[in-house]
Amino acid sequence: MKFNPLLILGLFISTSLFQSCQAQVEKSEEQVIEPKFNGEKLDKSTKEWRAELTADEFHVLREQGTERAFTGEYWDNHEVGTYSCRACGLPLFPSSTKFESGTGWPSFYAALDENNVGLKNDNSYGMNRSEVVCNRCESHLGHVFEDGPQPTGLRYCMNSISLKFEADE
Ligand SMILES: [Zn+2]
Repeated sequence: MKFNPLLILGLFISTSLFQSCQAQVEKSEEQVIEPKFNGEKLDKSTKEWRAELTADEFHVLREQGTERAFTGEYWDNHEVGTYSCRACGLPLFPSSTKFESGTGWPSFYAALDENNVGLKNDNSYGMNRSEVVCNRCESHLGHVFEDGPQPTGLRYCMNSISLKFEADE
């Protein structure tokens, strides 16, 4: 059997291409959100999000902005119902885990389904925080801290503008 140098070159190139793709996958997996989402991810372009969201919603949901404390729609909401992602509608927090944190942002000690909220490392502003995102569309919701009430000890500190509340019938 005669070796074809072009074939060998081709094999070499495709192997290294494959390896560089793998390296990229590994790199992006470092920012992967925990836990893994069970359903299908929603992937929209920045242009699509801009068209669908108001400027303020876009800033918080897609640019990790933060609304000013005590200015949002829900920090003082005591109605019974469900808070969903304002960008994609995924149910995120039940009103039953909402508590008075005194921070001026709607705060919860547990999610409706922990697979629906993703956690990412956030080292911005010289702080080491856990960013909370919608696990379906990866929109920014807020941060989670470990100074919440029992039974979880967690405080999901959310932006009202990232959520959409629907009262129970
Ligand atoms: Zn979402």
